[in-house]
Amino acid sequence: MTEDYNQRKHGVLPVDDKGYYGSDHRFGGAYVPEELKKNLDELAEAYYAAIADPAFIGEYRSLLRNYVGRPSPLYHAARLSELYGCDIYLKREDLNHTGAHKINNALGLALLAVRMGKKRVIAETGAGQHGVAAATVCALMGLECTIYMGAVDVARQKPNVERMKMLGANVVSVEQGGATLQDAVDAALAEWTRHREDTFYLIGSAVGPHPFPEMVTTFQSVISEELKSQVPFLTPKTSPDYVIACVGGGSNASGAFYHFLDDKEVTLVGVEAAGHGIASGEHAATMTTGEETVLHGSRTLSIKDEEGNVKPPYSVSAGLDYPGVGPLMASLASSGRMRVLAATDDQALEAAFMLARTEGIIPAVESAHALAALAMIDFKPDDVVVVNLSGRGDKDMLTFMNYAARK
Ligand SMILES: *Cc1c(COP(=O)(O)O)cnc(C)c1O
Repeated sequence: MTEDYNQRKHGVLPVDDKGYYGSDHRFGGAYVPEELKKNLDELAEAYYAAIADPAFIGEYRSLLRNYVGRPSPLYHAARLSELYGCDIYLKREDLNHTGAHKINNALGLALLAVRMGKKRVIAETGAGQHGVAAATVCALMGLECTIYMGAVDVARQKPNVERMKMLGANVVSVEQGGATLQDAVDAALAEWTRHREDTFYLIGSAVGPHPFPEMVTTFQSVISEELKSQVPFLTPKTSPDYVIACVGGGSNASGAFYHFLDDKEVTLVGVEAAGHGIASGEHAATMTTGEETVLHGSRTLSIKDEEGNVKPPYSVSAGLDYPGVGPLMASLASSGRMRVLAATDDQALEAAFMLARTEGIIPAVESAHALAALAMIDFKPDDVVVVNLSGRGDKDMLTFMNYAARK
């Protein structure tokens, strides 16, 4: 294959045709039962055709602008900058319709489902943010929507469950395993295998078998595409010195990093959830402590117990409470292109209150992990630091109230 062809097909992503990432091709791929292979091939073919079709891209961009409300602002956080001794800018994904970056991907995938003639969409969700985004775009496009959600999450994310229902989605409570996100993904993949013909799997992060991580990353890359033009216009520099994002599965980080991957002057920082602390063993610090494994159809990093089984993760943030990470993130971490930090529950919650009090912005508790990294890095006064504010914190008020009460 010529480089030109690969560039057209995969953009700037360091991925091969089988979905392996980086120069060592170590992470990624598609580890699925034979019958699912056909679905994935059909999906990849439709996807590469769609993104080469100006009509498809035109419709996607038009909806991003008029429905989602993009471009999202790049906001100079002057008081926060003073506090940390550098020049801090917030990429305001929290201002998107439905309150997070997830809609960027949900919209792209739903348009693809329509293009493929699928009538029925399934999705998994943990905190319910992706479930809400999926239910939203399905309502918009008249698609039937079923959301798989762990029973534990159904109980603790009631308002989002009600949102999904109001938007017309069926919510299926998954009782297997730990009854959280990991089990919801298993259930969605199993359902997709059973109903290959008419069903589209609208995945919520840059995880799973190829081509899912690549598709999700490409649809989220609008974040760094906007940053590329906003940074020279709104900051003293032509490119940022740092881009910082929290990492659950890695979709908002992938999108915020995408157009800077080849620019080695830009330090990329991924912040994962250290929960009660790495030493406590109760965390979701996949890249800091994880081992190579196959999880949800992809060779990647995951946290494991002594017996070598995937260990249930823990984080105060439901959106980061996942035992694995997408293959691009695993690859960037292992090659050293991305610096990996981990923030505890308390560090993240403290950072959330800090942003609320200095800038009048209540961040999602996931995004607060990225903000917590500001206290962990030695910045120079003229450093231009972009923090990807992946979502808003309305959904986390109970968590914030509990923290304030025990302080
Ligand atoms: C889901 C979610 C995340 C984590 O998912 P990624 O795929 O790692 O981006 C982060 N922030 C918010 C607001 C979320 O809803």
